[in-house]
Amino acid sequence: MKTVLITGAAGFIGSHLAERLLNEGHVVIGVDNFVTGSKGNVERLGELGMGEFEFFEMNVIDGGVIEKFSNMNIDEIYHLACPASPKDFKNLGVEILEVCALGGKNILEIAKRTGAKFLYTSTSEVYGDPLEHPQCENYFGNVNTLGPRSCYDEGKRFLESYIMNFSEKHGVDFRIARVFNTYGPHMRKDDGRVIPNFIEQFLNGESVTIYGNGTQTRSFCYVGDLVDGLIKLMGHDGFGDSARDRVFNIGNPHEITINELAETLAKVMDKDLNVEYKELPKDDPLQRCPDISRAKEMLGFEPKITLEEGLRWTCEMW
Ligand code: UDP
Repeated sequence: MKTVLITGAAGFIGSHLAERLLNEGHVVIGVDNFVTGSKGNVERLGELGMGEFEFFEMNVIDGGVIEKFSNMNIDEIYHLACPASPKDFKNLGVEILEVCALGGKNILEIAKRTGAKFLYTSTSEVYGDPLEHPQCENYFGNVNTLGPRSCYDEGKRFLESYIMNFSEKHGVDFRIARVFNTYGPHMRKDDGRVIPNFIEQFLNGESVTIYGNGTQTRSFCYVGDLVDGLIKLMGHDGFGDSARDRVFNIGNPHEITINELAETLAKVMDKDLNVEYKELPKDDPLQRCPDISRAKEMLGFEPKITLEEGLRWTCEMW
């Protein structure tokens, strides 16, 4: 049995990760300030009756988190806290940059003081609008430092670099997961991301809004598979000497266009497909697909849930 600290535990991925660890009998300490996380997710975790769940409503940029958690016996830290939907980038740009920089600094300090293993959920957004396809971990990316997505992209890139430098200085045992598009039950309905938008639109009998001409691609990973990847990465030791050896793409390499996504969801939900095409947002990546060879070889990670299966379960629990 381990004691695990999860920042962003009230969020979509954080709450699924917490649920899995609690079901395995671990002690989970969750932190979240509910900027985008939901109280419903925390209540659900409290009602599981498995493991031991403790929750603290705190902002990780608040230095108080260092005092709060540094004297606990924490074995592992999953640092997820950060608004992550493109819809949030407009209104929460400052909060996103601050949680990346200041929150990252505080949580690393806790890792240093407790000696806990540290996993950071970075993002496929570090690759920006990629010029290499599919994206492997060694690709440096194509990011607009002053674009509408830059708060998230640059915040996440900053923290990758900070973690590497902090660890060289203080010896934190870190690993970085670059998380690609993920979906599943308990996503925010008003999240603004493509799958919640489409599900809501189908349920309300509206046309689905496709930005651009719908030929842009994404690769969607079911949240249960993603959580498998995160846990496997946390459990992995034996990395090479370079910081780059500690970075792993985690996602599903099944790439589809947004038009194909709309067709698949219409089929799963048994609805007629009517589309309203809208302007493509600035800097919206035209293609995205993870090369997961490294995670496959070194972690034995491979997504198992097909898009149709995952969408069906998501809709059943919507
Ligand atoms: N998108 C869309 N309609 C929507 C929401 C999103 O066509 O109602 C597109 C969006 O422009 C992007 C893709 O779907 O090309 C995935 O968007 P999302 O916001 O889910 O995540 P992203 O991968 O851009 O971070």
